[in-house]
Amino acid sequence: MFADLHLHTRFSDGTYSPEELAGHAQRHGLSVLALTDHDSVEGCGAMTTACARLGLEFIAGVELTAEHDGAELHLLGYFLDTQHPRLLRELSRFQGVRQDRIREMVARLNHLRVPLEAEAVFALANCRSPGRPHVARALVQAGLCRTLDEAFDRFLKKHRPAWVPKFKMSATQAIALIHEAGGLAVMAHPGLNHNDRLIPHMAEAGLDGLECYHSRHSLAASEHYLGLARKHVLLVTGGSDCHGMNRGRPLIGSVHLPYKYVVILKERVAQRKSRSAACTPNASRPDTPTHPLLPSATKPPPPSCAVA
Ligand SMILES: [Zn+2]
Ligand SMILES: [Zn+2]
Repeated sequence: MFADLHLHTRFSDGTYSPEELAGHAQRHGLSVLALTDHDSVEGCGAMTTACARLGLEFIAGVELTAEHDGAELHLLGYFLDTQHPRLLRELSRFQGVRQDRIREMVARLNHLRVPLEAEAVFALANCRSPGRPHVARALVQAGLCRTLDEAFDRFLKKHRPAWVPKFKMSATQAIALIHEAGGLAVMAHPGLNHNDRLIPHMAEAGLDGLECYHSRHSLAASEHYLGLARKHVLLVTGGSDCHGMNRGRPLIGSVHLPYKYVVILKERVAQRKSRSAACTPNASRPDTPTHPLLPSATKPPPPSCAVA
């Protein structure tokens, strides 16, 4: 059995619907999928249904953009409670920031006499989490650029004239938010960010895992990150980061993560849940004496809330 734990749909900047994505996954021999749309868990409901229909296992996830020490990194959250009130509040805030960024990019394009309208981008994106790929697609659709690559190269790449810096939350806050929503926090595609120096800091901040396998990691890069995961006692994950037909061929099927890694993730999340239940003030702790007259010296120590 194999998994792909990094996938995007139309609920952010992917081009597949959840149903299409599940269908492609099944054709590629995948049994477990995690949806990790940018700043959104909205697709998780439809993805749960689509996976159940095809007999696939589904893990609800998200991808957050964060920073530490001025460096950008992406954090994946897995096994999230997709109804968690604070998670939903924060995601809605990030989505608002994304929409403002689109307006700002369009204003810069207009300033360059490229007559694109923000509404055209929003209509094309048709989701709450629009991003640069939607601006690129709108430019092509309006005949203002010939290809998506041209749109990025001329206008949208970092430091090109219509590029606008992205809002990023601090990585430690992102990890804490994922944990609060019951999830595991994993650093995405470390090989693309070239910030290995962040890994020990993130491990200290509670990071659970490292995406060692990614469609854009070479074999040597995967080996390198497997070594760093061992060194910093981080779990191993992997995924294609498929965005559908966004740029070139779809990437689904390019990463087949063996199921043993999913088993370890599930064990970790179960451990975390039982520990947090033990740390909840009114949780029943049958092994804890509660007699008010019991001398305090004989009380067992409180359960540890620290997560390895
Ligand atoms: Zn990413
Ligand atoms: Zn991604």
